[in-house]
Amino acid sequence: MVGLEQKNKGKVFLVGAGPGDPELITRKAIALISSCETLVYDHLANAEFRKYASIDCEQIDVGKSPGRHTMDQKEIGEILVSKGNEGKMVVRLKGGDPFVFGRCAEEMIALDEAKISYEIVPGVTAALACAAYAGIPLSHREYGSSISFLTGHEDIEKESLRVDFAKFGEIGGTLCIYMGMGKLSEITAKLLSGGLSPDKPAAIVSHGTLPSQSKIVTTLGKLVKEAKKANLVAPAIIFVGNSVGLSTKQNWFENRPLFGKRIVITRPQGQVSRLKNLLTKKGAEVMELPLIKIIPQQDRKLVAETFAGIATYEWVVFTSANGAKEFFNVFFRAFPDIRSFGPMRIACVGEATAKVVRKFNLEVELIPKRSTAEDLAKDLVATESLDSANVLVIIGNRNRDILVGLLESVGHAIVDTLPIYQTDFADVNEAPDLASFIENGADAVVFASSSAALSYIEQEEDIVLEKGARLPIHCSMGPQTSKTLLENNLSVDLESEDSSLESMVQSIVRHFTK
Ligand code: SAH
Repeated sequence: MVGLEQKNKGKVFLVGAGPGDPELITRKAIALISSCETLVYDHLANAEFRKYASIDCEQIDVGKSPGRHTMDQKEIGEILVSKGNEGKMVVRLKGGDPFVFGRCAEEMIALDEAKISYEIVPGVTAALACAAYAGIPLSHREYGSSISFLTGHEDIEKESLRVDFAKFGEIGGTLCIYMGMGKLSEITAKLLSGGLSPDKPAAIVSHGTLPSQSKIVTTLGKLVKEAKKANLVAPAIIFVGNSVGLSTKQNWFENRPLFGKRIVITRPQGQVSRLKNLLTKKGAEVMELPLIKIIPQQDRKLVAETFAGIATYEWVVFTSANGAKEFFNVFFRAFPDIRSFGPMRIACVGEATAKVVRKFNLEVELIPKRSTAEDLAKDLVATESLDSANVLVIIGNRNRDILVGLLESVGHAIVDTLPIYQTDFADVNEAPDLASFIENGADAVVFASSSAALSYIEQEEDIVLEKGARLPIHCSMGPQTSKTLLENNLSVDLESEDSSLESMVQSIVRHFTK
């Protein structure tokens, strides 16, 4: 693992986390965060990155935001030194690149003086990231053959600008100005007085690479007025230069269909990433509110008996993706070879469940049109293959009595059930994004199962949104979940067509783009 060889001595890694989009962090940074013992992090870096840290990693927030210094630079240096002296492997995570206006130099000097070894990991700096995500080229063969990174001050209190912007007016090229919003009018006035034309293309990108990104592309003369009109706030990068005028009309980042939408997902932790990835790719900001937890739970004797007779079943029915996953975990612990599974036919409630089964190159013979246990039972009965046939139903702890009852009474099948996992309500107060949800609300909440809906209803008192928070629509993964929501007086604003994650995301996109 990166850096662990230095464990006895202690070592500090000064690491750039990129500008905000969690996908713009380097693999090296992730490896270091995952293996460090102390994580010293900064306000600007996306909180997402802290999730890579191990459970026993000590996390220290030294975050600063413009105008508010929770901890001064000297103190931060002292923390790094003292943790290094304790022999810890420390990651100091900073927004963007550590060497670009990141005060990394001061921390490096403190470590040098204390003779603590360190490494530096670059990150994507805000200017480059904002330019890319806003489609603003920083250079062009014919316009702009130099690129300058400058700093203003976001802190209005600080009296004067450090950079002589009038001089940069003369130099020209493309200017990328960090921390400039607090003194925007002063900066533009200086640039104009230095000889830049009011018609010089200029732009501002605020909250670049984040779901809250906004931007303006205009001219230097109109920059202050336009920025005010668009309500652009820090953190932001100001761009000035001829190549800025070549910015894209496509707006690739902000035009993604779910851009600006905040979507809450309620799946158990560890299962959220696929849905989260699908939604994030469409531009949504995803908040995690795990409402249930899946706990593998089997009666060993029953499992052994079932496996001993596995070849006698004509149908095996999987009622959920979790059940299918856990079943095959247990199965492959008992048998190394899929051929031990037998020649039975397989039925699944819903596409998501079938997908798990197909991973083992097993064909799924039956998926009901509507993803409910009753529909599955009816379709199975309609195959006329159940009379006196042995059927195995893989279940969780939530009852599937209707399914089993129908297969037995109408289909005359001989049904065995194998409970394989337990679904428990997860305490919503432990959800990483609960506070933000309560404060800001969301555009949609996705209920992936009936149990998630029940857990939400049971814990409703802990999820009361603040006044002014956005009121979300409710998205249901299938008819069963919708039924639970409706029975409990919650609206169902949209329902996934075939209970797969892809179709859920498609429905959400359709809803918000109609
Ligand atoms: N080391 C950082 C910069 C730290 S200074 C880097 O390399 O990016 C902080 C300034 O960076 C902010 O005031 C703002 O000008 C800029 N910045 C950081 N993140 C930003 C973002 N997501 N969008 C726009 N500007 C950002």
